Amino acid sequence: MTALFPGRQDMTEMTGRCHCGGVRFRITQPVAGAILCHCRDCQQMHGNYNAMAAAPRDAVVFDADETLAWYASSDKARRGFCTTCASRLFKDNLGSDRLMVSMGVIDPPTGLHVMKNIWTQSKGDWYELPAEVPPA
Ligand SMILES: [Zn+2]
Ligand SMILES: [Zn+2]
Repeated sequence: MTALFPGRQDMTEMTGRCHCGGVRFRITQPVAGAILCHCRDCQQMHGNYNAMAAAPRDAVVFDADETLAWYASSDKARRGFCTTCASRLFKDNLGSDRLMVSMGVIDPPTGLHVMKNIWTQSKGDWYELPAEVPPA
């Protein structure tokens, strides 16, 4: 049987926060990831490709969100960021039942691996695609 959170067998949820702590959240159900997006929007906003975990929207519970703001990055998605420390926390694909959570703001250990590269046709020319790790 697979542990609910592979990297955190002793825990019932994942936690995460922005750099300054103005945004703090919990994820109460298992996530899928990591998904690496190499689209130009992600590269421009994150300074690199964007590594995300897909969480059921209802499973993301906020303990603090005073400094959370949203930026419409296209007509299909908005990005959640901290207005104090500028951490990029979320990608919200409008109409989806999943909220994409930036891998780097999830407290380690995550127990996740690179699952999939997407938008590889627009990846930067200065790096090779990270290897995808098949599920155990
Ligand atoms: Zn912050
Ligand atoms: Zn992207």
